Amino acid sequence: MDNRIYLSPPHMSGNELKYIQKAFDSNWIAPLGPNVDALEKEISSYVGVKYGLALSSGTAAIHLALKYFGIQQGDLVFCSSLTFSGSCNPIAYEKATPVFIDSEPDSWNMSSQALEKAFHWSKTCGKLPKAVIIVDLYGQTADYDNLLSICDYYKVPVIEDSAEALGASYGNSGSNTDCKTVNKGKCGSFGHIGVFSFNGNKIITTSGGGMAVSDDVDAINKMKFWATQSREPELYYEHKEVGYNYRMSNICAGIGLGQMTFLDKKFSRKKEIYRKYQEAFADIEEIKMMPIFKKGEPNYWLSVFTLDKASKVLPIEIISKLSGGNVESRPLWKPMHLQPVFESTSYFSYKDDTDISATLFDTGVCLPSGTDMTAQEQDYVIDLVRSAFKVK
Ligand SMILES: *Cc1c(COP(=O)(O)O)cnc(C)c1O
Repeated sequence: MDNRIYLSPPHMSGNELKYIQKAFDSNWIAPLGPNVDALEKEISSYVGVKYGLALSSGTAAIHLALKYFGIQQGDLVFCSSLTFSGSCNPIAYEKATPVFIDSEPDSWNMSSQALEKAFHWSKTCGKLPKAVIIVDLYGQTADYDNLLSICDYYKVPVIEDSAEALGASYGNSGSNTDCKTVNKGKCGSFGHIGVFSFNGNKIITTSGGGMAVSDDVDAINKMKFWATQSREPELYYEHKEVGYNYRMSNICAGIGLGQMTFLDKKFSRKKEIYRKYQEAFADIEEIKMMPIFKKGEPNYWLSVFTLDKASKVLPIEIISKLSGGNVESRPLWKPMHLQPVFESTSYFSYKDDTDISATLFDTGVCLPSGTDMTAQEQDYVIDLVRSAFKVK
């Protein structure tokens, strides 16, 4: 392949420049402006939450959410272990202590039994967490009926990291009408504060950016205040608190509005890509595509598979095979409890002898899933993966 095939490259609808042109025509080349307001409205109403706050990144949104819940030095924050470091780095910004929670096999997201164990432990220590960060990984919902009832019982607020899951849903609100859950809705609507990322690799992009969503107007206003350098409402610049420069620019928001115009098309294309891989590898016993969690509908952001423990071919062999053919692929997210930077933190696994997230990391491969990948390109990727099995 002459052109490298990437894991999840940006894909433009063609409408983005229209919104950027509007920004230029009106000279809104600034942070904030009409595109920002419109993107906040569009995303929050799409997700089914009252308010949105457009920010410079998903990580910034998580940081501000933690600040809203008053997280300080020495506080505990529970967080999914199988995730990208953006989920938990903000815990460290505030010098609080992360405690990592394992995944469950059905959704690969936070295990309620591991969460239960962590709460037990923290209660025994006499110190409950100040917040729980639940991640909707690889565009798939966590099991909110189980997780929220535990967090509600302990009265600990939830931050939902839906950075990868815009458009995914829990319960029968998607096209999956069979699932009977108490909670239902789009991912991002289950936490007190929900978080999205519009980084270049996500399902929609603003080149870089993110959003916090919430029904809580106080939370949104307070986060907005911090995100704009904590400016007091005075003519001169008056500051009583430390602030951040975390808002999204009007130009970036224009890209986001353009991206929203073909979101539905993206979902169907992502799903098509997943299904094609699934069919193509159906006869290879060692390969298992990421399970589709029965209680929701994913956005199929990334097509991922795991290899049987008994597989003679290792993930790294597949990854290097693809790399040799100029195709990008990767292992799954390396769990946070295995990261050197979080070495000394506590971790609660699915079972005493079963570490789901560590096993997923050891056995998984993320495949190219870009919505602008051609059928021929995907065939080429499939052939490379299959060839890794033929030699043995
Ligand atoms: C991308 C991502 C983030 C961080 O978002 P940025 O916009 O890159 O800061 C956080 N959590 C998860 C799960 C992500 O995939």
